[in-house]
Amino acid sequence: MRIPGAGGVQDIRIYEVAFQDAWELIFDCLNDIGIDVDERDEEHHVIHGHKRKKYFDVTLQDMGDGAVQLFFDQHKKYIEVYTWKPDYSDVDAFYKLYEQRLIEMKAFIRCTSCGHKVRANTKFCPECGTRINFNEDVIDNSDEKKSIFDSIFRSDD
Ligand SMILES: [Zn+2]
Repeated sequence: MRIPGAGGVQDIRIYEVAFQDAWELIFDCLNDIGIDVDERDEEHHVIHGHKRKKYFDVTLQDMGDGAVQLFFDQHKKYIEVYTWKPDYSDVDAFYKLYEQRLIEMKAFIRCTSCGHKVRANTKFCPECGTRINFNEDVIDNSDEKKSIFDSIFRSDD
């Protein structure tokens, strides 16, 4: 679920993966896309980071039933009421990388609307139609299309 804002964006996704794996993977991905981690709260599982003048808050929550909720917030230092052009490049880069790694780990993503379990690279929830993945270029290669098929017909494996 993506909520665009003035000068920023919030994105919330739910994955079915071990909490500690999900947590460690965040740092790998932030590092790989050039976001500097300024603060790492191991108790509340909150990360504050920045890249040039963009600020990032990433929170991981344990959903209690084998799922984790990843909350990614990108914003400017001060609230910006007017903005020329939304910039989702970092949030897109983060989730693209994060979900590629999850696919390698054979993890699942859950629909933020209905909770249906789908492959991490699925574009729309087969149950309710909610958009799952915003990374078009992840979707648009044939290997991924096969996975969408798998997610519809073999979602319980
Ligand atoms: Zn759904």
